[in-house]
Amino acid sequence: MSRRRVALIGASGLVGQRFCQLLTDHPYFEEPDLYAWQRSERKLQEILKVSPDTISSSLLEQKLRTINISNILKDGYDAIFSAIPSNLQENIEIELASRGSRIFSNSGLNRMRAEVPIIVPEVNDSHFALVEGRDGFVVANGNCSSIGLALPLKPLLGFGPEHVEVTTMQALSGAGYPGVPSLDAVSNLVPYIESEEEKIVNEIPKILGSVGSNTIEAANLQIDATCTRVPVREGHTESVAIRFRDDPDPLELREALSHFRGTPQEKSLPTAPIHPVIVEDFPDRPQPALDLWRGGTGRSRGMAVTVGRLRVKKNEARFVTLSHNTVRGAAGGSVLNAELAYSRGLI
Ligand code: NAP
Repeated sequence: MSRRRVALIGASGLVGQRFCQLLTDHPYFEEPDLYAWQRSERKLQEILKVSPDTISSSLLEQKLRTINISNILKDGYDAIFSAIPSNLQENIEIELASRGSRIFSNSGLNRMRAEVPIIVPEVNDSHFALVEGRDGFVVANGNCSSIGLALPLKPLLGFGPEHVEVTTMQALSGAGYPGVPSLDAVSNLVPYIESEEEKIVNEIPKILGSVGSNTIEAANLQIDATCTRVPVREGHTESVAIRFRDDPDPLELREALSHFRGTPQEKSLPTAPIHPVIVEDFPDRPQPALDLWRGGTGRSRGMAVTVGRLRVKKNEARFVTLSHNTVRGAAGGSVLNAELAYSRGLI
């Protein structure tokens, strides 16, 4: 199959620049045309926020165009990756999709719309049914913390979870660039992130839900979340407690996590990690400094969620997860969604 023509809107941001790393020399997609807002008209290499090591020289040299719906449509892309903010007045993604564009989005704005699936490829690729046969569509990523939670929850569904309590310790980069003011961030912890808890509570049942007729029926799972910002540059850590209907066997539960595989692994998609969930037995792991980039080599670096501190007592399991917020929780998740869509003939 030929490589698809793609664009990247929001290319100047932190997530946008992770996309540039992951879309360099991609086997399914041509090098993207880059679009930005205030930082358009500048070359990517002038506004770098991530390492240029793995970005091609032609992308680094590319001058960013201004996000403008008619210009983007004129170029007739096969797919558009989106890393634009979630709080825009104009719904650019829906506007583009209504005119035939296929959008792979990181924005929170459209995730809960009935016609938009939130896809975490190892968890719910059946949700692509919502966009099959449509010319234009939006396929969303989960929120960065939702993705880090959905991956280890999926293999535990067979044990009958009833209630999930999660406390996140989210990295500064999760707030985009320039993000959290340094006086709030240095030597500090902020025990509140606006709208973040609602996102986890609403998104997880949708991600784990089943496909009905043209809609997703949310999973019957109660979630409570507390979201905090910590002085870590990258990597969202989450402390998770799950209450099950019955007492799970601890060994079976551990094996369900470590043996978990999904469609991206079956299809050997380019950005798929070997193990989407890595169970770590050392008592002081996972740590952002040690486990942020796990998943494999090359494109799959940073695509695994590391689970540690696994403890099972009666009908409760507790563990700590770590995921790379701008890779697995954002650009890498979207690229994997698009690879899966490509393999299904949707783009
Ligand atoms: P960011 O660093 O603030 O970048 C935002 C991007 O959007 C920039 O390219 C910016 O262009 C562009 N933009 C700003 N205002 C715009 C407007 N009015 N119209 C069109 N484009 C506009 O943010 P980010 O962290 O990369 O996040 C991008 C998206 O991913 C957000 O929706 C965020 O919620 C989501 N997300 C982020 C993370 C994370 O860990 N950071 C994880 C998951 C999802 P200029 O620079 O040219 O102004």
